[in-house]
Amino acid sequence: MNILVINCGSSSLKFQLIDSASEEVLAKGLCERIGIDGRLVYQSEGNEKEITKEHMPTHTEAVKLVLEALVNPKTGAISSLDEIGAVGHRIVHGGEAFTESTLITDEVIAAVERVSELAPLHNPANLIGIEACQKLMPGVPMAAVFDTAFHQTMPAEAYMYGIPYKYYSQFKVRKYGFHGTSHSYVSKHAADMLGQPYESLKTIVCHLGNGASVCAVKNGKSVDTSMGLTPLEGLVMGTRSGDIDPSVIEYIAEKENFEMEHIMDVLNKKSGVYGISGVSSDFRDIEAAAEAGDERAALAQDVFCYRVVKYIGAYAAAMNGVDAICFTAGLGENSGETRKKICDYLGYLGVELDEEANKRRGEDLVISTESSKVKVLMVPTNEELAIARETAALVQK
Ligand code: AMP
Repeated sequence: MNILVINCGSSSLKFQLIDSASEEVLAKGLCERIGIDGRLVYQSEGNEKEITKEHMPTHTEAVKLVLEALVNPKTGAISSLDEIGAVGHRIVHGGEAFTESTLITDEVIAAVERVSELAPLHNPANLIGIEACQKLMPGVPMAAVFDTAFHQTMPAEAYMYGIPYKYYSQFKVRKYGFHGTSHSYVSKHAADMLGQPYESLKTIVCHLGNGASVCAVKNGKSVDTSMGLTPLEGLVMGTRSGDIDPSVIEYIAEKENFEMEHIMDVLNKKSGVYGISGVSSDFRDIEAAAEAGDERAALAQDVFCYRVVKYIGAYAAAMNGVDAICFTAGLGENSGETRKKICDYLGYLGVELDEEANKRRGEDLVISTESSKVKVLMVPTNEELAIARETAALVQK
């Protein structure tokens, strides 16, 4: 069955058409600058990537353009829309309502709307994507796959904040965690790569991309993760601060005479390695600047790695040990330098990095030595494939 995977943001829409039987990507691309000056990037299997300017005032036109591209007689991947068996939507926040992926019904949409308060930048955009697809593909089954669902197995001691209980009971303020689809996919895949049962493995997954989080996966279940109520908590990221003393907010607000909205903008968009280095949020630029002697770029790298190391230590403690540490996402899959800087701290766990293997990038590979007590793996994440698998499983049920 062909599954169309949709990841809808406020002004963008990423898509992949995946054959769920062969797990081949038949076509992929993205609509950018929806509502501004739209651009469609499209590539089908065996063809060159095409980039065209398109009129896409709303997400409905964007989905329409994607569907037209998919059935285009020259570069299309399918000959008719009937060949799309189901659509899988990435939904950022499922709150406590969703512990797993689900087929989309009116009730599901209403429940996603109810938790939109917790993810005001993401959930409304995800819902627009669902609505646009339903309009253009009536009758095609659709699934919602949540970034938060995998983490719903966290115990209360991991997800509760140390604030008055009523904020949890009345307003659902707690740690939810994100990147769940990636953490689940990578931890499962790592167990397969090691030839060990997923149900009896303690794994720490470091999803290090522009957004970054660490997850403790014990016996196939997420037991803790670094992101919180929102994706701002935890690691120092591309532009996000990660953990800070909440008093910093009041202090800066007073010094700079900033409103709360402005402060949150600083913490989300002007902080992280970008804020520390003043160079870029992109690690390639930061590595190059540090190499060229830029001290703040080098400091940003150090701060980033140190925070990851602290979370690994915390999660090894939380699980009473760790069997495998996985690196994934843009930086985790590609930056041997970052992986090495992190692993250099982990001798106390018995981690021994295979320096030659660590030079490789973007492939499934064990990058620790034979004698390493804890296995270290590089595992390219594939959230689209994970969404397609979940969707196919739900539809076939
Ligand atoms: P993601 O959000 O998963 O797409 O990851 C984006 C981040 O990965 C950016 O900071 C990129 O600079 C970083 N990245 C991608 N390729 C490399 C590379 N070869 N070396 C270092 N960082 C990289």
